Amino acid sequence: VIFVSNLNHYFGVGGLRKQVLFDINLEIKAGEIVIMTGPSGSGKTTLLTLLGGLRSAQEGSLKILRQQICGVSKRKLTRLRRQIGYIFQAHNLMTFLTAKENVRMSLELHDEYINQDMDAKAIAMLETVGLGERVNYYPENLSGGQKQRVAIARALVSHPKIVLADEPTAALDKKSGRDVVELMQKLAKEQGCTILLVTHDNRILDIADRIIYMEDGILKNDSADMITSRH
Ligand code: ATP
Repeated sequence: VIFVSNLNHYFGVGGLRKQVLFDINLEIKAGEIVIMTGPSGSGKTTLLTLLGGLRSAQEGSLKILRQQICGVSKRKLTRLRRQIGYIFQAHNLMTFLTAKENVRMSLELHDEYINQDMDAKAIAMLETVGLGERVNYYPENLSGGQKQRVAIARALVSHPKIVLADEPTAALDKKSGRDVVELMQKLAKEQGCTILLVTHDNRILDIADRIIYMEDGILKNDSADMITSRH
């Protein structure tokens, strides 16, 4: 479902132009859970935003759900974005909406839910993530782990084919972090979706089917070092 070849990415222009991704090649199959790890500033978030159509790809080939998205119009990227679930720090919950309204908002972007009971769907999803008692709470009255679970509910409620997550366990204690990723894993397996998750958290690496490693803008697929450090 994700196919990247010879992808390069640059920030800045002219003499200040800096290359941050170098000849990235990556293939992720349907239903796979892939974790991307690597040092801070190595380019992980940049790659994730390109894969999610949140940033326009400049050079190379990037196929998501069989569509080439390198060099396509903003409109096409918007359409693609509806098919992807995001659990990003920068895409935090809307503070002025309740947990249920935050989840419901994701359904409102999809025409196929227009005639359905979106409130009931949002509540059912919040029950699945263990927040049935908190559907009418505002984010400020939820703990970090609970907010993260609302974000997961919001990302998965519309059954996306792909979920992209950036540091979903950041700011969570060990137990909540573990619970959150195990929940993502369970829901993804049930819905058959593909997950690409960026993390620095060594404690969750074992949920991955495969680990990839980014360093200085270079992606190392299945690096031997990473596989040994898993155990
Ligand atoms: P972290 O783990 O700290 O989030 P990362 O691996 O996700 O880091 P990126 O955020 O992708 O790394 O950043 C890769 C490089 O691109 C860094 O050198 C960063 O300074 C640079 N960079 C990121 N976003 C921009 C931007 N909007 N403009 C200019 N440079 C940027």
